[in-house]
Order: sequence, then C-alpha cells, then structure tokens
Amino acid sequence: MAKIKIDINSGKIVKSNIVVGIDLGTTNSLVAWINPQTNKAEVIVDEWGALLPSVILIKPNADPVVGILAKESLLDAPERTIFSVKRLLGRSFQEITSAQQFLGYNIVEDEIDSMLRIEIDKKLYNAVELSAMILRALKHKAEKVLGQEVFQAVISVPAYFNDSQRQATRDAGKLAGLDVLRIINEPTAASLSYGLGLDRSVSQTILVYDLGGGTFDISILQIEDGVFEVLATQGDTRLGGDDIDYSIMAFWQETHPALANCDQPGDIQALRLLAETAKIFLSNNTNLIFTEWFEFSNTSTVQPQGIESATKEKIELSLNYGDLVNAAQVLVLKTQACIVAALRDASLKPSDIQALVLVGGSSRYPEISRVLSAQFPHLIINNSLNPDEVVALGAAIEADVLAGNRKDILLLDITPLGLGIETAGGLMDLLIPRNTKLPCRVRREYSTSVDGQINLQIAVFQGERAMVKENRKLGEFILKGIPAMPAGFPKIEVIFSVNADGVLTVYASELRSGVSQNIEIKPQYGLSDEALEKMLLDGFANAQSDMQVRGLQETINEAQQLIYSVNRFIAKNGDMLSPIQLVDTTQRIDALKRLLNIGSNKDALLQGITALNNHTRPFAENLMNIAISSALKGKEI
Ligand code: ADP
Ligand code: MG
Repeated sequence: MAKIKIDINSGKIVKSNIVVGIDLGTTNSLVAWINPQTNKAEVIVDEWGALLPSVILIKPNADPVVGILAKESLLDAPERTIFSVKRLLGRSFQEITSAQQFLGYNIVEDEIDSMLRIEIDKKLYNAVELSAMILRALKHKAEKVLGQEVFQAVISVPAYFNDSQRQATRDAGKLAGLDVLRIINEPTAASLSYGLGLDRSVSQTILVYDLGGGTFDISILQIEDGVFEVLATQGDTRLGGDDIDYSIMAFWQETHPALANCDQPGDIQALRLLAETAKIFLSNNTNLIFTEWFEFSNTSTVQPQGIESATKEKIELSLNYGDLVNAAQVLVLKTQACIVAALRDASLKPSDIQALVLVGGSSRYPEISRVLSAQFPHLIINNSLNPDEVVALGAAIEADVLAGNRKDILLLDITPLGLGIETAGGLMDLLIPRNTKLPCRVRREYSTSVDGQINLQIAVFQGERAMVKENRKLGEFILKGIPAMPAGFPKIEVIFSVNADGVLTVYASELRSGVSQNIEIKPQYGLSDEALEKMLLDGFANAQSDMQVRGLQETINEAQQLIYSVNRFIAKNGDMLSPIQLVDTTQRIDALKRLLNIGSNKDALLQGITALNNHTRPFAENLMNIAISSALKGKEI
C-alpha cells in the first residue's frame, strides 16, 4: 500500500524524508534504510530476498526486467540480458573491449561521443541508463516494502572510482528519480556498518577486504575524529568469484572433452551458473561432493547437407572441496599479493592494522578467512554481519547522518590526482595537490600579461605533470569583460572548490571590476582506474625531468615578460632615453630574444635576463625620480 502525505495548508504533496542507502554492485545490488522503530540499519527484503541481481533483461516493447528473472534469462536470451553494467559505467569503448568475450550482449562504440553503447534490437543503451534501470528497481522495491515514496539516496562506489565514474553513478541516480545526497566509498560504508568510526574518540587503521563477483578491492582507511581517510587502495578490477566459476568450468572442460565444444552463449551461461552453484554449495558444506547433470546443445555434428543441427548431450559433473581449492588457488594468491601492495603503499606493517572488515559474497569462501587469519594473527576478523549486506547497511547509516539524524559523523575523501589551471607557456599551476582531503576550497590570484587584455581563458586540468599538455583537460571557460587595464594590474581570483563527492566547481572573478564567471566541471567520462594509475605513475617517473621543464618554462616566461615590459617602457617613455641608450637597449632586447629562440638553455637565459635587468634598472629609477619631482612640483603650485 502506497501512502501519500499532503500538507493541508499548501495542498502540496509532502515528499517522504526516508533516505535509503544503496549498494549498486557489479553482481548484486541492495537497498537499506534505518528502521525508525529499532533505529538500526536494515536491508530491505521483498519476496525475492535482499539481493537484487544486477542483471537486466531488455524485451521488445516492454519494460525492462531487473533481478532474478533477468538473471534466469542469461540462459535463453543471453544477447538481450545485460550483466556487469558497473564495469561499463564511466568508461570509454576502448577500455572495455577486452571484456567482450564474456559478455553475451553486443557492445558498440557510439560514433558521436566515442562512448560505449549496448545494442539490443537495434536500440542503443548507455551504461548510465542501464544503471538507472537497476536503481529504479531498487527504488520500487523500497517503496513497495516501506509503503512510502523514496526520493533520496546515498549510493556507494568503489574507493578507486574516478570523477567520471562517480558522476556517472550520480547521473544514473538522477535518471532513476533519486536525489543522490552523497556518493560514499564502499569500504567506508562497510566500516560504518560495523560501527567503526562512530565513536569520535577512537582512532583506528582499518583494512577492508572486498571480494565480490568480478572485482577485488583492498582499502586501508584511517579514522580519526570520526573522519575517514583513504590511505591506500589496491585491487584488481578483473578478479572475483567469477574467476572461481571460470576455473571450475575449465576444470570440467578438461575432464569432459565433449564440453570443450560447448560454445553456445546460452550453454556457456548455464555451465557458468552451475559452476557458481557448486562453488557456493561447497563454501557452505565443506568436503561434500557436488554432482549435477548438465545438458547442452552440441553443434559440432555437421549433417550431410552441411546444415548444423543442435543435438542435446548430457554430462555428469562433479566437484569436491579439493577441486574447489585448486580452482580458487590463483585467486587467493593474487588477493594476498594485493594486501602486501596496499600495506606497502600506506607504509604500514600488518601489525599496524587494527581492524579487518570482510565484504563481498566471495569472502564467504572459507579459505579467505583462513588465509587472512594467518596474515593478521593479531586480529579478530569482522565477519559477523552478512558480507553481501555491509556496504548497503553502511550507506544507510550515512544516509541517516545526511538526513540530520546523527551529528556525530563526518565523512571525508581525498582527491586522487592534482587539479590546476594552465598558466603562461602551457605550465600546470597546481591549486589542489593530490591526496587533499575533501571537501576543499583553494583560492589564488592571477593577473594579465598583456596590456588591455579583456578576456582571460581559464583551462582546468587534472594530473601530476608539469606541462598541461601531459595532463587531462577537464574543461575551460573564458572570463570575459575585464575592463582594459595595464598588464599585471587586474586582480583575477580563481577559486577551486571540490565538494564531498569530488565534483569540482571553478570560479573566476576580476576583483577590481567584479566581473565573474564559473563552471561546474562535469568530468568527461572515460578515465579508467588504469588510466588514473598511469597518470600517477607518469608523474612519479617524470618528477625530475618535469622539474627541469618547469624551471626552464618559468625562466622563458620571465624573459618574455621582461621583454614585454621594456618594450612598453620604450613606447611610453622612449623620449627619456638618449639615441645611444635607445639603440643599446633594443640590441639587448634582441639578444634576449635570440636566446629565447634557441630556447633550451636556462642558465644562458637567466644571464640574459640579469643583463637586461641591470641595464634598464637606472631607467626605472630615473623614471621614478621624474615622477616624484613632478609630483613635488605639483605641490608647489
Ligand atoms: P558484487 O559486489 O560484485 O556485486 P557480491 O558481493 O554480491 O558481488 O558477490 C557476488 C559473488 O559472491 C558471486 O561471485 C557469488 O558467486 C559469490 N558468492 C556468494 N555466496 C558465496 C559463498 N557462499 N561462497 C563463495 N562465493 C559466494
Ligand atoms: Mg560489492
């Protein structure tokens, strides 16, 4: 039963103040809320259970089906059944083509924006629209169970999600009719669900181990004064429970050669689901043998007429716990290596970790807890809550905070890459260094370099390199209508403000005239975490040469500025100079210009600058004297 509240004074519908927490997962999605009766976070459960498989079935001329029914259609309609949308969110076509082999549906590149689209019945869908279908299904699920409309949500994303992916998640929420109050990091949410970070007097270092269906994420978080800071993230975007399923499939194909020919998308999905069932069964029932009949259409038989015909074949499949351990061994080793790397990134020893939180359905695989207990013998692992649910529960707690019901928690994130603007000579002027806590706000003053300049272009970049051309352009705008003033006279204030979700707003204003302009940077989609990592690594690798490049460029800027101002002096006050002085000065300017044309010798340029400066200093003093004496004369009158 849906309820509607109406304000009888205004006659308007009162929107409910329920704020839900949503875990929009690669494999499964959940929605949770704080039950006002118990004041506890609870996952919302309907007749299908708590988990909504993140699978969408697109039918011709009908509404999309999301969830278990769609998951079942992986078998008979793989080409119109979409899973793993989260992997596609905020990504370009180039970045995901390698994943195509496992996806039964068709991914195409949009010619206009080079973004990926999914093609079904000649219709194109983008990842934001598809994610919105899942979010809409969760919204309806919550509304159906709670009997109230839901308009506001907190949605979780992996800690390594970049701006584009966060923005795409936000957009999907908007499209689903949700006001997304906050994007929260999944490890932060998982920690909150265990109450970590709720007591402001406790400082703690937490390791969150999240092994889901197709992704593995390690995050090391530091909580201080109720503030969460991400110290390190590691992981593998292609590692998870699915890999166990694939190796079980490979194991079966090895033991049953007939299965090697099994290449129908529907059959592959059926075998995959069976492998998953076997895995889950054995994770809960140690050392039992799992046996099942598998029927598949064998297309390898070619009829005399040359027409392929599908014949059904039946095979008995079995798996024992030892087979499962073999199938999962590589995965477990890889996750251990990621932990070592994360600790190294955060400069921590295993003994520095004070709490360990298990997240993700695959963390139920018993070997995981065993291996972690060996790696962190001093810890009691937080695995009392359902690992599928902890992220949604934590998102609900954060939602409650934002609804104003809890004043004791504040959540912070950091910027993954530096943010700045382009200054003279293509230099990156960094306003916000990477790893700055969010939200943050930085202001800096600039000026013009040319007399009478009335427009100023502000180009915003993200990255770690000295020159903007090596960084990523986020956007640009032009501050127009600056009143004509001499170079260096306008006071142009640039403010970078990044909100708690990592969305950047850039403001620019000329303070003397009040002319102003701003943009919200809606990041271009398509910066993958690999690309992000590459940008970081490039920054480190080129730090030394970048410093030299920057030093040289700054000297070039200085020389150009000096030439500009001496020329200006000659134009305005040339009559102060004797003809010999004038020729001499022009020659020195030309000498510095020649050095500039050669370009790459910083020391020579610095000498040229000093020489020209020394030569022109007496002129400036002379000019000053004239100005003062004429001012005095003025007084005399
Ligand atoms: P995601 O975060 O990617 O949406 P989940 O956290 O929901 O994923 O985890 C889904 C994965 O967990 C699937 O690969 C599923 O097979 C696996 N899984 C669920 N239960 C178990 C279990 N008892 N043992 C091992 N794996 C499990
Ligand atoms: Mg997850």
